Amino acid sequence: MAPRTARALMATERVTSECAPLRDAYRAGGVSWLQALTIAPLVVHAPEDVATAWVARARRVTLRRLTDEVEWALARHDAGAPGPFPPPPLDSRLQNETWQIGAPIPEPHVQRHVSALGAAITFVGPASIVALFRTAIAAFAAAAPTPEPTWRSCERMLRHVQETWLALPRHRDPVFERDGWRCSVPACSGRRNLHDHHVRFRSRGGDNQRTNRITVCAWHHLRALHVNLVRGWGTAPDGIRWQLGLQGSSSWALLDFLGDRYLDQDEVLADRRAHKREIAARLAAWIARDDATIASPVQRSAQREVAR
Ligand SMILES: [Zn+2]
Ligand SMILES: [Zn+2]
Repeated sequence: MAPRTARALMATERVTSECAPLRDAYRAGGVSWLQALTIAPLVVHAPEDVATAWVARARRVTLRRLTDEVEWALARHDAGAPGPFPPPPLDSRLQNETWQIGAPIPEPHVQRHVSALGAAITFVGPASIVALFRTAIAAFAAAAPTPEPTWRSCERMLRHVQETWLALPRHRDPVFERDGWRCSVPACSGRRNLHDHHVRFRSRGGDNQRTNRITVCAWHHLRALHVNLVRGWGTAPDGIRWQLGLQGSSSWALLDFLGDRYLDQDEVLADRRAHKREIAARLAAWIARDDATIASPVQRSAQREVAR
C-alpha cells in the first residue's frame, strides 16, 4: 500500500470514529474513504440528522458534485452563517460565492481566532515553481499600500491572474464560463482541451442556443459522445440527461444521470416511458399529416397501416 493511501485510510478511521452515522456507513462499505474524508468537515460534531443527510448525499451524487456541495457549505460556514450546514437541495445550482474571498481582514483582536476556521492553502510543486510562486506573492506584498498578511497578497495575486486570464479574448467564452471551465460529463473533471459540444448534434438540426451547448473535454467529445459510448440530451446546463457506458445500439446504459445526480431504476424506467410516448406522439403527428409535398412511400404505407 502506498504511504499516501495508508495515511488517508488512517485519517478516515480517525474522523469516522467521531461521527456515528458516518462510521456506520463507512464500516458497512456504504461510503468510500474518499467520500468519508470529503464530507468529514461537515459531519463531525454536526447534529445527527445533518450527518445522516450528508452520508445519504454522498451515495447519491458523483464525488465531483459532492466536493462542490461540501465547498459550498464550508464557504457559508467560513463566512459566519448560522449553522448547521445540511447539504443543498438535490439538483440545485450552486452559486459561486465570492463574498468569502472578499471578506475584510478581521481586526487584530479577532485575528487570533481566525485559525479556528481551519482554512489552509497548500501549494505543492517543483522547487523552482514554488520559489517562483513565493517571489510573485512577495512582489504583491511589497506593492500593497499597507502591510498585509501573506494570504492577502496571495489572494490579490490570484485575483489578478484570473482577471488577466478572463480578459484575453479567447477566454471570454460564455458556454465555458457558465460551465465553470470543466467537462460537464458526470464524474469527469477534465479542464484541459475543452470543446463546445452541441447537445443535439448540428448534423441533426441542433441549434446554436446556449441551452443546446455544453462544455466537454476533447476525450469525451471525440472518443465518447460522437462514437456513442456516452449519450447526452436535454437542456443545458442543468437539465442534461446523461447515459454512460452504452453498449452497441442498446438504449440501456451502465449509468444514468440527470446533471450530476445518479438516477435510480424507477427514474430510468419512467424516463424511458416518457421518451417512448414522445416518439409515438411525434410519429402519429407525422403519419396524420396529409401533405402531398412531403408524402413518401414510407408515409403512404404508414397511412394505409393506420387506416386499416
Ligand atoms: Zn460535439
Ligand atoms: Zn470529460
